[in-house]
This record gives sequence, C-alpha cells and structure tokens, in this order.
Amino acid sequence: MFKLKRFFLFLLILAPILLIWRTFHEYQDDWARIESKKIPIVYSDNYDITLFGLQNLHPFDTQKYSKIASHLTSNTTIEKSNFYAPQKISQEELLLVHSEDYLDSLKNSENLAYISELGILKKIPNFILQERLLDSIRFATGGTVLGAELAIKEGWAINLAGGYHHTKAEEGGGFGFMADVPIAIKKLWQKNPKLKVLIVDLDAHQGNGNEAIFGADKRIFIMDVYGRDNYPRDEEVKEFIDFDRPVGSLTNDEYLDVVLNTLPLAIKNSQPDLIVYNAGSDVLLGDPLGKMNLTKTGIIKRDELVFKYAVESKVPILMVLSGGYSSVSSKIIGVSIENILKNVLLVTK
Ligand SMILES: [Zn+2]
Repeated sequence: MFKLKRFFLFLLILAPILLIWRTFHEYQDDWARIESKKIPIVYSDNYDITLFGLQNLHPFDTQKYSKIASHLTSNTTIEKSNFYAPQKISQEELLLVHSEDYLDSLKNSENLAYISELGILKKIPNFILQERLLDSIRFATGGTVLGAELAIKEGWAINLAGGYHHTKAEEGGGFGFMADVPIAIKKLWQKNPKLKVLIVDLDAHQGNGNEAIFGADKRIFIMDVYGRDNYPRDEEVKEFIDFDRPVGSLTNDEYLDVVLNTLPLAIKNSQPDLIVYNAGSDVLLGDPLGKMNLTKTGIIKRDELVFKYAVESKVPILMVLSGGYSSVSSKIIGVSIENILKNVLLVTK
C-alpha cells in the first residue's frame, strides 16, 4: 500500500515536469521554424564597397546596401537570418554574357577607373581592386541570379543590390562591371528557354546595357522611363526598347501617370513570365546624377505601383536596386521596401 502511494506521488511530481519539458521543446521547435523561415530578400555583408575611404570621393553611396538591410531588420519583424545569402558569381556564369577578353579587361585598373568614373583607381594595384571592389560586384551579381530563381519559385524577390544596366557584353560603363540581369535571365533560360521577361527600368538613366545585350530577342520586352537629357543617350540601342518613355523634369503625379499609362499596357502586350524591376532611386530630386524631380513619397508610390501591378497580374517579380546616389538614398529605399513588404506583399509587420 505504502509503495502504491509512493508511486502515485512520484507520478504527481513527474507529470508537470513532463508537461513543462514537452511545452518547452514544442516552443523550441516553433522558434526554430520562425528562425529558419527564409523570405526572398537577397543580401550579403560583402555588398558594401570599402576602398580605404576612396569610395567617399565618388557620389555613389557604396555602403547603402548594409544600411537598407539594417533598416529592414530594425523596422519589421524580419531578422537578418531570414535573408538569403548569395554566392559570388562564377566565371562560367559570367561567360554566359561576357567574353573572356572583356573579363580579362577587368584585371586592368585603368579600365576599372573608367567604368567606375573614379580616376584615382588607376593608381591602385589591381589585386586590391579585385578584392575591395570587384568581389562586392561578384556577390551582388550572384545576388541577382539567386533573386531571379527565387522570384520564379516564390512569386517575388528583392536583391538589395544589382541592376547594373549600363554594362554591355564587351564594355562596362556607368559603374556597371557585370551585366547581372542578363546573366540571371540567361541562367533561367538554361532551364526554360521559352521564358519571357519584361524589364521595367525606372532608373533615371537609359538601360543601354540590357538593351544592347538582348537586342531584338523576342523573349525580352523592355519598358524604359528615363531622363531624356541624361547619360548615356545611346541612340544605337533605342530601337530595342519596346516601351520607350524619355521624360523631362516631371512632378510626382506627372511621372506616376507615365508609369500608370505604360506598365499595364507593357504587361498586357508582353504577357511575361517574369518582371525584372530596375528600381533606380536616382529619380530623386537633388540626386547628383539623376537630374529628376521625384520626392521620397513619389519613389515609394512608384515602387508600390509596380509591385501591385505584378501581384495583380500574377507575374513573378524581381526587384534590383540600380542607381541611387544621394546620401539619403538608402533611407528612402529602406522605407519603400518596408512599405512593399507590409502593404503589398503582407509578409511582415
Ligand atoms: Zn541611373
């Protein structure tokens, strides 16, 4: 009898312990699930470019990438572990678009100075530029490739870098060393050669690199809204723009009207399987290179519109950041992506 009493007493003590142990483990499992849940935002700490302070001589904020990532982790429920980390682009992938000769030309500091429009780079030994400059671009280009795959799989993706739309197959320019978007599309074509892509280029500059690389390829449609007096004014490749919208200095409303009047038509006429959104923020009033007049509100509205159209049309979308040169660019891009995530994609609070 005494033994039975002891046994029940033992059970009485053990039961709550087991219950607590089980709850704790279930909680741990849930936590692990939340922790490991990836969202299709591609980012690497290697995106930032630091060249012993020389990067500050360039109007380009070369540390905007980590600032945007920090903005997102500070202002949403997303944690850094939720981002996808890209690999560096491989030589084999680069050769999908560029020739060996072009890639060899990047081993020349003078050429890197020309492409980055930063003359002082001529004087820096190339091995340093390979590590401090080109490696960042290799990661960012790998990020666009990963982003394109994720967009097809998940319906959307954002690479917190990329969009080097002035890079041609045999010539870099306008801070474009590697043609990230064409490489990403050609990689997708390896699996699905019929895939149709609409490039929506709303950077302040004409995307002449993408236009030159794809030429008259019938699987590519390009909508390009850009400052008509801006670099590069590349007349030779203009014929490859399907929806060509050179504009002057427009107000927010006038600019958004151009997007509103063109994008639905572009989607309807091209019936794309993927939209690549080149979301240059250099359309901002006061940007040293963009020479356009949009305000922060205008840019946020513009990005929201493009994502809304893609979601409504059920077309996967990949956003790449492209140009955006002023010191406030990173903040505006951060707030704009936060707005897309919270109010269009509904993936975070
Ligand atoms: Zn630009």
